[in-house]
Amino acid sequence: MPTEIRHDWTRDEIRKVYELPLPELVFRAQLAHREFHRPEEVQLCRLLSIKTGGCPEDCAYCSQSAHYATGVPREPLMNPRDVLEAAKRAKAEGATRFCMGAAWRQVSDGKDFDRVLEMVRGVAALDMEVCCTLGMLTESQAQRLKEAGLTAYNHNLDTSPEFYGQIITTRIYENRLQTIAHVRNAGITVCCGGILGMGESDEDRIGLLEQLARLTPHPESVPINMLVPNDGTPLANAEELDPLVMVRTIATARILMPASRVRLAAGRRGLSQEAVALCFLAGANSIFTGERLLTTPNPSADADHRMLETLGMRAMQGA
Ligand code: SF4
Repeated sequence: MPTEIRHDWTRDEIRKVYELPLPELVFRAQLAHREFHRPEEVQLCRLLSIKTGGCPEDCAYCSQSAHYATGVPREPLMNPRDVLEAAKRAKAEGATRFCMGAAWRQVSDGKDFDRVLEMVRGVAALDMEVCCTLGMLTESQAQRLKEAGLTAYNHNLDTSPEFYGQIITTRIYENRLQTIAHVRNAGITVCCGGILGMGESDEDRIGLLEQLARLTPHPESVPINMLVPNDGTPLANAEELDPLVMVRTIATARILMPASRVRLAAGRRGLSQEAVALCFLAGANSIFTGERLLTTPNPSADADHRMLETLGMRAMQGA
């Protein structure tokens, strides 16, 4: 029987999936994965920080928040020409999706937004999937991004609604959901996930998955990040996450949202090759490549190509 894509998952149901014995959980995730995706394929994405640091938000994990002394230098919005060069290099290295991140609380109409629209048009013309993460958006800004050729907008829920207030105080969960709705209404696909290892409980991870799995339609892209502790932030000394928690969360996400791309995002450099292989087995089918993920270190494109070769997997072709 084909897997039904559901949006009415209850927290109890999700908890039962999440708490399955790991081999059973991964087995079920594989079944769902193979029904909707090629198990040997991984999408390579490149993420570029187009405006770095000085963000007025207080996300406790973030090196770019102006609330913390993290040593990350503030850099103004990049020149569209340089961004396009970076996108071309990423494409030459096998990336089919190019994401641009700006450390803004929200998008403001004006010169900077016009430059971002120019970047989006330029990357779309390279025949790559183009994604942005720019903070909160209005409906009309989402519409303008769509018209410029934006494929996807990233706006993470980060964690459960219950734990959210311990991580961010400068905005509320509802703000996030509102921007996601504007993105969806403009006809842009949604990239939305969370971060593990911030001191949240299993119940918080289940709560995050519940929020994601009840979005209708599901986010087409679900990034699962592992905290990379940044000096100067409140989470600088967070306890290290057991990689099997990543595996468990990814497998549950795969079962709940079988058609979505599940992205193994930040924190991958802290995982062994075996743990990354288990994440693929659990249903992750996308990674970010390139030396840096915004401001955090990431494996190089060469290292990733070697890893895929070792695992007998390959980069997804075409956008
Ligand atoms: S995660 Fe984004 S919104 Fe939060 S402080 Fe960092 S750049 Fe700002």
